[in-house]
Parts: sequence; structure tokens; C-alpha cells
Amino acid sequence: DLPVVLPEEVVFSPEGGSPLAALPDFVNTVCPTCGGKASRETDTMDTFVESSWYFDRYCSPDYDAKPGLDRKKLDYWMPVDQYIGGIEHAILHLLYARFYTKVLRDFGVIGVDEPFTNLLTQGMVCKETMKCPEHGYLFPEQAAEGKCHICGKDVIIGKTEKMSKSLKNVIDPDYLIQRYGADTARIFCLFASPPEKDLEWSAQGVDGSFRFLSRLWRIIDDYLEDIKPVPAATKDLSTEGDLKALRRKTHQTIRKVTMDIEDRFHFNTAISAVMELVNTIYAVKRPAKGDQTALTVIREALESAVLLLAPIVPHITEELWQMMGHQASVAEMPWPDFDPAIASEEEMTIVIQINGKLRSRMTVPIEEDAEEIKANAQADEKIAAMLKDASIVKVIYVPKKLVNIVVKQ
Ligand SMILES: [Zn+2]
Ligand SMILES: [Zn+2]
Repeated sequence: DLPVVLPEEVVFSPEGGSPLAALPDFVNTVCPTCGGKASRETDTMDTFVESSWYFDRYCSPDYDAKPGLDRKKLDYWMPVDQYIGGIEHAILHLLYARFYTKVLRDFGVIGVDEPFTNLLTQGMVCKETMKCPEHGYLFPEQAAEGKCHICGKDVIIGKTEKMSKSLKNVIDPDYLIQRYGADTARIFCLFASPPEKDLEWSAQGVDGSFRFLSRLWRIIDDYLEDIKPVPAATKDLSTEGDLKALRRKTHQTIRKVTMDIEDRFHFNTAISAVMELVNTIYAVKRPAKGDQTALTVIREALESAVLLLAPIVPHITEELWQMMGHQASVAEMPWPDFDPAIASEEEMTIVIQINGKLRSRMTVPIEEDAEEIKANAQADEKIAAMLKDASIVKVIYVPKKLVNIVVKQ
């Protein structure tokens, strides 16, 4: 009978399954040995045949020449920077995809040796199971108050296991979205555990996430009228006390969230850093309405919190961003920058001399660079006044101690 040529008159239906199964002419045949009735296999292609190289095809989806891979485009895009999948992918799909890559490389179709640069195997979403002694596993809504919805018997709380339809330990996302909104569902999932660990579902955790978002909303709403007319603080603003501490927290938070997301995908610690920032904003004594300086610092902190959370909770942050008077979407904003000097925890006192005589002092962040320190020394109010008519010969910096400005006498 070989080769068995596949029919081309097939209908691909959204229900899935092999379209060949719907063609009796193809399916029904006779056994080549005994001549009896027989049916043909209809699963003629394994799913990995496609999934092992789709990322190559994605690089040049419109390229028509066989095998549909444009070497120029592939050289530009490949390899894939980040592969994210469940642990089951780490064996099957990863293995096949690497095999395909090596074959395509040997044929000269692509130039890379490995398809993926980084692998992150994320954990599973888990929840305890609930079982009626008579009616088996129950969905959470069928076990309200610990009783079976059919017979009223006490349900048995079982092990925490990977959510699955067969164990019925699943949560309907529609319910969460209706009750709390999609943002709460998102931030809870990201907050509950680092991505490589299993996530244990908890109703209290969902509630806590909702409360945090409400807390963010309230503080922005509360400050809205006061901060509307002022811009966010800029780099060179000088502050003291509470406000200085808040600015430091803001810039430390930007630094931490940036590193947590960029380097490690640790959204959970990124989120808790923003929670801390929001707590710090709450703790600041409310500035007077006209206190421009204080309000710019508050605005900087609030805007940073919104920008940092935008990829995690896009809906509420978009709304808050607009409330604060911005025209453009928060999604179009650049990622916020932090200033290492402002984020710096430690400071040192530097003595400023002119021709070896003590003239002033200044405090600078401990990791401030030498050129910046020399410039700051000359910009110091007292020093600048004394240097007004002087001509500077050179500026000497003795690390962590002093700046000596040598002038012509
Ligand atoms: Zn037979
Ligand atoms: Zn029951």
C-alpha cells in the first residue's frame, strides 16, 4: 500500500484533533495480511515536529523559499534570549528543539549551535484538594464551609497538589476577575513565590494583594490635588530629613526592582520593594499644600511606584497615571532611572581647602566619583564666593578626606 498519500481535501476545525479522522475514505481500509476490515492511524504528525523550530520560522514568517527560513533574518534574531517553560519542557521539547537546531545548522540553514540562551523552568500553581467520602473530589465552590454540596458530609482536605481538572483543586479566574479585577489576580500570582518555585494558592494572599492595590490607589487619590500642579523631583533637588529618606527609598526601590526583574525574574521581591516604598510614602508627614519641594518628592515617589508596577498591574497603573495628569499611556513611558548618589545609604564628609586652608565642608555619597566631588567642592556656596575672582591652578582630591583647590595668589 505504500506510500500512503495523505488527502489534501481536509477541513481543519477549531475543535482540534486530526482532520483525517473525519474522512472515511482515508480511515477505512483493509488489512494487507488477512484482508479484514481495518482503520488507518490518523495522528500522522507529532506535535514536536512543529514546536521544535517554530521560533526559527517566527524570525521570517513571510519568507516563501523552502524551508521558509531566511538566513539573514535568523542570523539577526537567533538564538532565543529566554526560554520559559514547565519542568516537563526541560526534557522533551528542549531536547527536540536542540536536535532540530543542530540538523538545520549542519544543513547551513541557520548559523546558531543552540536555540536558547537562558532557561527558566517555572513552578506549578498548587492548591489543596477537597474530597467527599461519597462523592469524590469537589471543586472549591462545591465544598462551601467544608460540606459536600450534595450530601452535606464533611469534606476531607487533602494534600496540596498541582492544580488539575481531575483533582478539581482549581480556581476559576473569572471569579477572581469579577470579584477583585484582573490586576489582583496578576499581582497575587507574581507576589506569592519566585517563578521557579511552586505557587501555593491562598485566598488570604489574594485578599492581601487586593488590599495593597487599594492602598496605593488611596494614597495617590489623597495627594492628587496637591501634586497635580507640581512636577516630579529632578536629580539635583536637595532635601533633608524625611524627604531625603523618601527620595533615597524611591531611588533604592527603582534600583532593586530593576535588578530583580532584569536579572532574576524575581517579581515577588520586586513587588515587596514597591510595597515598602508605599509604606514609606504613608509614613511621611503630610507636607503643606504650597510646599513645592516636598510635593515634588512625594510626586516622584508616587510616579515611581506606578511606573514600576505598570508591567505587573497594567490596568490600575494606567488609570492612576492618567489621574496624575499624564496624557501619554503609562505603557509608553520609559523605565524609570535611579540615581546611585540619591540611592546611596552612606555619606562621607569631605573637607574643602583653598591653598591648604580649611574653608568649608560638604557631605557626599560614599561612592561618589572623584570628578563629581571636585566639581561639587567648587560649587559649594562659600567656596564659590571665595573663588569668584581667583584663577584655579589645580584641584586635588585626597580620597574620602579632602579637596584642595590651588589658586594663583
Ligand atoms: Zn489482519
Ligand atoms: Zn458528598
